[in-house]
Amino acid sequence: TFKALVATKGETGPNLAFTDFAESDLMEGDVTVRVTHSTVNYKDGLAITGKAPVVRRWPMIPGVDFSGRVETSDHPDFKPGHLVILNGWGTGETHLGAYAQKSRVKGDWLVPLPAGMNPGEAMAIGTAGYTAMLCVLALERHGLKPADGPVVVTGAAGGVGSVAIALLAKAGWHVVASTGRSEEADYLKSLGAAEIIDRNELSAPGRPLGKERWIAGVDAVGSHTLANLLSMTRYGGAIAACGLAQGMDLPTSVMPFILRGVALLGVDSVMCPKPRRLEAWARLATDLDRDALAKITTTIPLESVIETGKAIIEGKVRGRVVVEVG
Ligand code: NAP
Repeated sequence: TFKALVATKGETGPNLAFTDFAESDLMEGDVTVRVTHSTVNYKDGLAITGKAPVVRRWPMIPGVDFSGRVETSDHPDFKPGHLVILNGWGTGETHLGAYAQKSRVKGDWLVPLPAGMNPGEAMAIGTAGYTAMLCVLALERHGLKPADGPVVVTGAAGGVGSVAIALLAKAGWHVVASTGRSEEADYLKSLGAAEIIDRNELSAPGRPLGKERWIAGVDAVGSHTLANLLSMTRYGGAIAACGLAQGMDLPTSVMPFILRGVALLGVDSVMCPKPRRLEAWARLATDLDRDALAKITTTIPLESVIETGKAIIEGKVRGRVVVEVG
């Protein structure tokens, strides 16, 4: 047996307990991984609190991402001892997840740990940071460059936001960081933000077209914030949308699209095809400043994931949280 956080279906939300889990109760897969690190992403908070129906199989071990060492493998790409990363593919939702010392998964879901990165750093980045990278790649594929104008990042002090700021600033972008936490201004500037704006400027219903303020954006927030980002995007710009921290609605009009040629780029990390994952992790290994990553990161033991899961939903977590599972 090994230690695991197990969620069972309760009346008002999941019942959570740390238990000794039998390896024979793990789900199907061709690779068994000794999990060393996981993280607490926003989605993990939703699963732990039961605020959204993330868990779709009971009992469930929550946790949507991990890093660790291959223990046994029938997959041609992975041998015992290989260091690997897993993000998404239903882990912690429909497949037993990361808050456990062992996980059995499909080898096709795994990404090799990039050279020069350790498993703790991989989970400091985690799904939030890998998604931030996917957003940056989407903006680049659209042809946008730092010389074209400023980029806005919403949910700036959160996980996606913090990593996005560090990546974009390092690439030479003028980063406008939108946050509800003015006390985090120094933190955001230390990551490379050039300007800080109050998220209240963006979170209320706005006009179909506003003053053109940026050419690009990374949005972790959705709702009126995303609508305002679009209406304030310069001619030919694009917003990469990946989150819903304000809401899953999008009360907008077609005006930014048909009068300014603005593009809305959807970003999904869960079912993202493997070549793009490999590209994102390779770029994270080379482009993400390790000092910035250290500033972003706090570390907790597995026992603390329940309280941290609640805190992230309350918007109280800064940057990224690494869970030491080992
Ligand atoms: P996080 O660390 O909690 O960051 C979210 C940030 O959004 C908060 O720190 C806060 O930033 C801001 N925020 C919270 N509530 C808000 C509200 N009511 N109105 C406006 N802003 C609010 O979460 P995360 O792990 O970075 O994830 C961010 C979002 O991306 C989540 O919605 C998550 O589900 C989504 N996501 C999607 C994918 C994908 O595959 N598409 C992958 C990863 C994450 P400030 O305090 O700075 O304002």
